[in-house]
Amino acid sequence: MNQQGSRYPRLFAPLDLGFTRLKNRALMGSMHTGLEEAENGFERMAAFFAERARGGVGMIITGGIAPNEEGGTGAKLSTPEEALQHRKITQAVHAADPEVKICLQILHSGPLVAKEICVAPSPVKSRIGRFKPNELTEEGVEKQIADFANCAAMAKLAGYDGVEIIGSAGYLISTFLVQKTNLRTDRWGGSWENRMRFAVEVIRRVRATVGPEFILVFRIAAMDMLENGLAWDEVVSLAKAVEAEGVNIISTHFCWHEAPVPTIATMVPRAAFTQVTGRLRKEVGVPMITSNRINMPQVAEDVLSRGDADIVSMARPMLADPELVLKAAQGREDEINTCIACNQACLDHTFGGRKQVSCLVNPRACNETLLQYPPAARPLRIAVVGAGPSGLAYAHVAALRGHRVTLFDAAAEIGGQFNLAKRVPGKEEFHETLRYYARMMELHQVDVRLGTSVNAAMLVAGGFDQVVIATGITPRKPEIEGIDHPMVIGYIDAILERKPVGRRVAIIGAGGIGFDVAELITHAGKSASLDIEVFAQEWGIDFRNHPRGGVTGVERRVAAADRLVYLMQRKIDPVGKTLGRTTGWTHRATLAARGVQMLNGVEYLRIDDSGLHALVNGEPRLFELDTVIVCAGQMPLRTLYDELSAAGVATTLVGGAFEAAELDAKRAIDQACRLAAQV
Ligand code: NAP
Ligand code: SF4
Repeated sequence: MNQQGSRYPRLFAPLDLGFTRLKNRALMGSMHTGLEEAENGFERMAAFFAERARGGVGMIITGGIAPNEEGGTGAKLSTPEEALQHRKITQAVHAADPEVKICLQILHSGPLVAKEICVAPSPVKSRIGRFKPNELTEEGVEKQIADFANCAAMAKLAGYDGVEIIGSAGYLISTFLVQKTNLRTDRWGGSWENRMRFAVEVIRRVRATVGPEFILVFRIAAMDMLENGLAWDEVVSLAKAVEAEGVNIISTHFCWHEAPVPTIATMVPRAAFTQVTGRLRKEVGVPMITSNRINMPQVAEDVLSRGDADIVSMARPMLADPELVLKAAQGREDEINTCIACNQACLDHTFGGRKQVSCLVNPRACNETLLQYPPAARPLRIAVVGAGPSGLAYAHVAALRGHRVTLFDAAAEIGGQFNLAKRVPGKEEFHETLRYYARMMELHQVDVRLGTSVNAAMLVAGGFDQVVIATGITPRKPEIEGIDHPMVIGYIDAILERKPVGRRVAIIGAGGIGFDVAELITHAGKSASLDIEVFAQEWGIDFRNHPRGGVTGVERRVAAADRLVYLMQRKIDPVGKTLGRTTGWTHRATLAARGVQMLNGVEYLRIDDSGLHALVNGEPRLFELDTVIVCAGQMPLRTLYDELSAAGVATTLVGGAFEAAELDAKRAIDQACRLAAQV
């Protein structure tokens, strides 16, 4: 065992697979990065994975690669020429640390492939698929199996240590397993034995092709979250069958992409699903991988101590911090840049059609060759004004490069808007980001001056070489008659509970903050993100009895809000359309279940003692209210910038002070890091 990792004895225990050994139990799970199809993608992936290998993981699974043309929208691996490209990745990883294993994920997306040639056991269109798939003929089924085996052979040729075959999530293999997507009456459909034949045959053929000394991982939908999805005895029998065919490791997955249950978003409690892996682990002999919302070493250690799994998979946390495992081993947990499960720069990009993935808290993720933080050629004295996300990010990168940074903020604590976000139920992970930045300021000796309002004269007198204005935003005050009425309050006062909120409330503005405020004021009891039982009740999951899919026939139990809330916007678009692609629907569903009324097409006329007078889609309406909360976006706060400009001092603007419209932390941090990388 790595002596330094003794705080996490289970995480740092090696795992013997017979013919090979994993140096620890930390796995970097598969994530599509978008680099597979990018220019110089293989060089960039080589750098991306090698950085994670140096960062201490025991094993890496690549993003999904299709075994043939019909199996994927992006990259495929079916020829020796393609295998040669992958050698760049495997060589870089093994050069970084010869003990680290890297496996290729073979992903045949079946009906989710965005091409007309997509295939499936039956012509059943997925709710999230683009085309109705072509039904595979008997020969077609045989071809797909042969292509899986060929892809595995090419992975071996490319120098991978193994392959993971994904049998979950709505991709090809899982559509054979589930009744609603497999309507066949031949030997590939009908009875359970027939429906699982394809998965078992793929494993058998792959093992026969690659030989015994090649890691073979099968990813199983241990709880697929589908109404009428897999029954528990089917999950167990599939796990036993693939084990019998020579799988070395089984990895548990908890989703179909179209299932209406969040499984990785920030409102999901940490390690919420590992208990399911623990149950399956009792049924099979091979090591089990668990995953989902395991983002810190102690969470991983606890999962392993409970006996829920043998290996812990962390995918997004490795985007956020490539050195997570190394820092755990060296007792530097407080330096871990924790994944906050926001999905904003990773999965929202993948599923929103933006190819390239990165990370909100670490813009270097997937940009390792392009965004670097080299030591500064000439250390400067830099003043950063504003300790919100952009100011912190700028100060951090500039200071780690060797500049001498002074960070000013009038507030008593660092964090800016993050101090609002962390108070919203389901967004508790923002505490981690603030802990990380506080530690980075300390580590890189940033001179942090809180409770300090600076003016232009002070900055000029300070003799700084560079002044960075990260003063952020000020909430927009919409021009509505009666906006100064005592019943009207701003979102900052509402979130910080500085002003009372009554029983009948209208929220003006349904952007990210309008939704956050609605969540905060309709929430009762313990945050579901902190309690697995409450989470399970709210989303209708039965962990104990495991009906089909874990959800079949289970009612959602969401406590209705004890106040009447209207969430309003002027646009006629559906309310919540601007929220994150992979998480927006969860917020809409939760608020709807609590009885929040979401209204679009609202024209605000007047606020007076009787309430809010408005036109809703042209119809006059009076909302009798106790409180109106304004969440109508922001304006840049540039007073200091204007003063300095007038005094002829050159400054750099970052974050909300630069551009407030549709600002989010992703853009603010990204911009700040890129600017600080060049100073
Ligand atoms: P926002 O997303 O720009 O939303 C502002 C809302 O106010 C919109 O619904 C807009 O809708 C309304 N509005 C704008 N001007 C108005 C006016 N003059 N009068 C009345 N209503 C007006 O801003 P935000 O909600 O303050 O969020 C700020 C940023 O933080 C956003 O970029 C957001 O993505 C980010 N954020 C993200 C999350 C998240 O969970 N991802 C959470 C919080 C914040 P109409 O114009 O249709 O009325
Ligand atoms: Fe995690 Fe958000 Fe970064 Fe994705 S973008 S890796 S969810 S912190």
